[in-house]
Amino acid sequence: MSDLRPFSLSAAEISQRVHAGDISIREVADFYVQRTEAYASKLNTHLYWNASNIADQVKDQESKLKSGLKLPLAGVPVLIKDNICTRSVPTTCASKMLENFRPPFDAHVVERLVAAGALIFGKTNCDEFAMGSTSENSAYGPVRNPWNVDYVPGGSSGGSAAAVAADLAPVALGSDTGGSIRQPAAFCGIYGLKPTYGTVSRYGLIAYGSSLDQIGPFARTVADTALLFDVISGHDQRDSTSRAIPPFQTRNGVGSPDTNLKGKRIGIVKEFFSAGLDESTRQALSKAVDLYKDLGAEIKEVSLPSLKYSISAYYLIATAEASANLARFDGIRYGQRQEEAGATLRDVYQKTRSHGFGTEVKQRIMLGTFALSAGYYDAYYAKATAARHLISNEFTRAFANVDWLISPTSPTTAFRLGEKIDDPLAMYLSDICTLAVNLAGLPALSVPCGWDEKGLPIGMQLIGPPLGEEALLKGALAYEQTANHIGSRIPKF
Ligand code: GLN
Repeated sequence: MSDLRPFSLSAAEISQRVHAGDISIREVADFYVQRTEAYASKLNTHLYWNASNIADQVKDQESKLKSGLKLPLAGVPVLIKDNICTRSVPTTCASKMLENFRPPFDAHVVERLVAAGALIFGKTNCDEFAMGSTSENSAYGPVRNPWNVDYVPGGSSGGSAAAVAADLAPVALGSDTGGSIRQPAAFCGIYGLKPTYGTVSRYGLIAYGSSLDQIGPFARTVADTALLFDVISGHDQRDSTSRAIPPFQTRNGVGSPDTNLKGKRIGIVKEFFSAGLDESTRQALSKAVDLYKDLGAEIKEVSLPSLKYSISAYYLIATAEASANLARFDGIRYGQRQEEAGATLRDVYQKTRSHGFGTEVKQRIMLGTFALSAGYYDAYYAKATAARHLISNEFTRAFANVDWLISPTSPTTAFRLGEKIDDPLAMYLSDICTLAVNLAGLPALSVPCGWDEKGLPIGMQLIGPPLGEEALLKGALAYEQTANHIGSRIPKF
């Protein structure tokens, strides 16, 4: 008989116990199906899931296991953000435009998960086409934060983050163009890793800002974050920006925790600790820094003056790329066609795009088209690209002197549903700590590091040099082992 209890097992433990014959894949699946039935609609985390599809996967994975294969994710339920393609399974990007889209293929990361023994447990709600910071820009209603259902879970990958925080699955995938993994991880009190650009294939990820987008894991432990990252990382020839590297093996490094950080140099980014930071966030971060000092690390202050350009540069580059990427949703090539008898091609385009896209997506397509237009290209897009280089160079210089950088993941904890949705500027400003990392293509991890006065989680961001994922995960592990913030609390929703 299975002794599974909510929040009791990590992905690594599920896989271990399945291999040991201690629990069956079916028992794990039944347990998570029950939890999904009980809570997914309350939190609005899922856009699609199907018990009979899960039962089929259970059979497939059980027969693979019987044949003696070693599967790193044997029987582990994984949720997938709904902008990542799953064969024959709806993939909507939380948009009306793709309401009936069932891709004819799996994304690279989905193929990798299935090969590793995972169960694809469903598709998660998010901001439409991943544009947003709260998961309120979904055509299918907002996601709720399990720590307080009147608050947002962050975004855009809010469904994945909220579901993992609520143990509707031990792990999930999201995508991060400007913070969409790290910020919801922070708002929901879990780990979220944005990998180095090019380490995880974007094949099958519906593009938002192609030079910024990366897929990455959500988990409730550092070890699970490492495990999932290892499985999805490594070269794929179908993504031309994929680095020619083998899959990472960070789980080995994370397997032997080392809380002695003597010789490690940690940089505190001065600009991220300026005005606009919540007092509770400031205090939690300063406690975390003290803890790192106690573990032997040397703390240095670092200044990255060009960070002040990151919001403007990001919102020009991301929208410019989005305006090009979303041109394909015209009702002819992709997208739910809107037409009437006698309509011209132009009418079809216009009706399809007016009806299919939500306000935020339209706003961004217009902004991006403007930034790329002949008369304004130099003033906006070219300048933003120059700022991007400045930011990137400053990070490179900083990493000559430190092993990783620390900042808050977000200047505040989660906000109330509806609080910022009518003020796009306030919403964009709240991305201040995460955007620069994508502009520079760096890896960064959000680590739960405390609670505010309302009982909402606070996140700390660790930023590393390119391909520095293992060092970040080890740094997070040293903190997890000594601070132990998450073990003690479970959300009540
Ligand atoms: N909040 C940012 C935006 O709206 C980041 C989104 C993301 O990372 N996908 O663009």
